[in-house]
Amino acid sequence: MNGTLDAALVAAYGNSAPRYTSYPPATQFHSQFGAGELADAIGAHDPAQPWSLYVHIPFCASVCYYCACNKIVTKHTERSGAYIARLGEELKLLAPLLGRRPALKQLHWGGGTPTFLSQDEMRVLMGLIAERFALLEGDEGEYSIEIDPRHAPDDTLHLLRALGFNRLSFGIQDFDPRVQTAIHREQPYALVARVFATARKLGFQSLSTDLIYGLPHQSRESFAQTVEQLLTLSPERISLFNYAHLPERFAPQRRIQAADLPAADVKLGILGDTIDRLRAAGYVYIGLDHFAKADDELAVAQQERTLGRNFQGYTTNGGLDVLGIGASAVSRIGNVYSQNAADLEEYEASLDRPALPVRRGFSLNGDDLLRREVITDLLCHMNLDVPAFERKHNLSFRTYFASELMGLGPMQHDGLVDIDENRIQVTPRGQLLVRAICAVFDRYLRASNRRQFSRVV
Ligand code: SF4
Repeated sequence: MNGTLDAALVAAYGNSAPRYTSYPPATQFHSQFGAGELADAIGAHDPAQPWSLYVHIPFCASVCYYCACNKIVTKHTERSGAYIARLGEELKLLAPLLGRRPALKQLHWGGGTPTFLSQDEMRVLMGLIAERFALLEGDEGEYSIEIDPRHAPDDTLHLLRALGFNRLSFGIQDFDPRVQTAIHREQPYALVARVFATARKLGFQSLSTDLIYGLPHQSRESFAQTVEQLLTLSPERISLFNYAHLPERFAPQRRIQAADLPAADVKLGILGDTIDRLRAAGYVYIGLDHFAKADDELAVAQQERTLGRNFQGYTTNGGLDVLGIGASAVSRIGNVYSQNAADLEEYEASLDRPALPVRRGFSLNGDDLLRREVITDLLCHMNLDVPAFERKHNLSFRTYFASELMGLGPMQHDGLVDIDENRIQVTPRGQLLVRAICAVFDRYLRASNRRQFSRVV
């Protein structure tokens, strides 16, 4: 065990809490926010600043039983063509607000499964984006796409590189065939290794992978084997997610037998073993469930305090405004969050009118902004520079956050945080429980049902 986490701490602080990909969490978004508010936010964007664009592709060819994402499982590949036409319409409606082809520093296609698209559709979609944004030359931009190794033949990878993508992220989850069968995601190590080899040859700069612990039939030994196999591929980034079994909320999870899931102590053992092994292999623990090689941009951004957090998780260039297009996509622009209709029919019907498909959002007030900054600093840097915060906002931290500092008392006693007049520092012991530490600063959590969020560990 890694010595930073024990069962008593998990019992005390491992309860449900938001992942803070936004503050306030998306559960606070409301329907009084609409297209007008989004237009105002885009209008207030500093034209000298480049954009980050997120494109949501909701389709998957088959369902993974653990999945809790917003997706549409279909064999009807023709559905994506109609969807791309709507993405084009959405970009057309946004164009007058964005001004003439602003620079695009970051681009991410997520899902669902973006590799559900045919090669022609990928070309068309990138063309639609390039009509509205100036893509940066060479590898100046960070352009990433989530790929399913089962749908990523060599020619697709060639095309993605030619279209300008320079980063790939892969769902791996577990290499054990027994686990893969139980989660309905069969992708042998040899297949993933081939995709990696091709991606390396083509010069993709950063390969990012997801693992999930807590899946059926996993044991400490079996997962250790998965981690060793993954390390042979040497990905730049590794995410290690905790599977939350909530079959009453997520229908695909009803295909997973609760009796096959590892016990809580086994899960904790897997987590501790994996953290130890990844650190020994030279990965930096960025925070929450993310690890990166020491020279990866994510680790460098953390060193340089430019790491940020958005709906894709940790991100370099955290200060960029993010525009999200597609069903359910979220934008984060200045002081607002805006979310599109998650329901595909509603999203498409809105664009057919045509109208921007915004369904809900949130405008942050002064208090929200202060709390967002505290939570972001704790999540991204594991500390808060109190005097700098006070100077920036012209307030007394001790007075403004008096009740939160009291709330942190038990965590300080248990060694999760060190607090003095200059700094709130998350300790190595507190790092895995940082969501619980952030939750102390969450004004909305007190009034909400915590069970809608996943467990911290
Ligand atoms: S895990 Fe990913 S590929 Fe699998 S069903 Fe969910 S969105 Fe689709």
